[in-house]
Amino acid sequence: MKIIREPHEMQQTALTLRDKAIRIGLVPTMGAFHDGHVSLMRRAKQENDVCVVSLFVNPLQFNDPSDFERYPRDEAADLEIARTVGVDILFMPSAAAMYPPDAQTFVEVTRVSQPLCGRHRPGHFRGVATVVAKLLMITLPRRVYFGLKDYQQCRVVAQMARDLYFPPDLVFCPTVREADGLAMSSRNARLSPEERRAAVVLPRSLELAQELFAAGETNPAVIRERVHGQLMTEPLAEVEYVEVVDAQTLEPITEITQPALVAIAAHFGRTRLIDSVVLTPPRPEPEPSAPDPLDISDVPGRAK
Ligand code: AMP
Repeated sequence: MKIIREPHEMQQTALTLRDKAIRIGLVPTMGAFHDGHVSLMRRAKQENDVCVVSLFVNPLQFNDPSDFERYPRDEAADLEIARTVGVDILFMPSAAAMYPPDAQTFVEVTRVSQPLCGRHRPGHFRGVATVVAKLLMITLPRRVYFGLKDYQQCRVVAQMARDLYFPPDLVFCPTVREADGLAMSSRNARLSPEERRAAVVLPRSLELAQELFAAGETNPAVIRERVHGQLMTEPLAEVEYVEVVDAQTLEPITEITQPALVAIAAHFGRTRLIDSVVLTPPRPEPEPSAPDPLDISDVPGRAK
């Protein structure tokens, strides 16, 4: 595995590979690897010729400096995991290289960045969009891999890629969970044993949303209230938001007739966790169509 720290060296390497028609699959990460990251790396390896993983704890997406300071970092373990998975290039730039003092360019995706986490973490998605745009220009991937665990991030990146005509295919991968259902997250390492036990209320409350929806509930306000009620049963959970919104636009809805996102954020002590699920209404049965009077394929004696 090659480790590259300089953006220009990474870009030169990517250009050389591209000239040889070697396809790069990129997995952007902030490190402290777990099986969620590994699932993205494996997929990038499978579907491309070269797997590049970027490891960069992006200061621009932390609205709270103390959250940035406390973000889990474990470079030695990460190198080991990346090597074991067979990552070809680990790109680990410094903050000074990614954001030189004279940098003046930022990427802002408007509407889809505003609700949910955007409302509670001002500037977060501007930081995400800016760093992803830079990483794409530096690594020139054919495909780039994101986890649906960070659903709004996926929507923001998809909107940016569409608006700016970014060439790579975006691949959104399912959320990998612990045995008890808790979504894997680097931040889980920060939970005390009691908080870790309490955090299972997140997937439990999303399961409740799925059960209600499966039983015919299509009123987002009812689902939201019930999910909120379930979260409130856990004394260690401090709920930041529960929202049921259109899964595409992330805007409010009054009834679930299209795929809807149930998104939650809650603090357990000093650790903020998010999770979400998409509720997809079944497609209506197609109306039995009247026989086509011009269809003669079944007329005996006619050539089929
Ligand atoms: P992070 O290092 O947390 O910024 O995550 C890097 C990438 O891994 C992002 O695209 C995340 O959405 C994705 N990811 C994080 N946790 C999971 C998970 N539990 N399952 C699948 N993908 C994940």
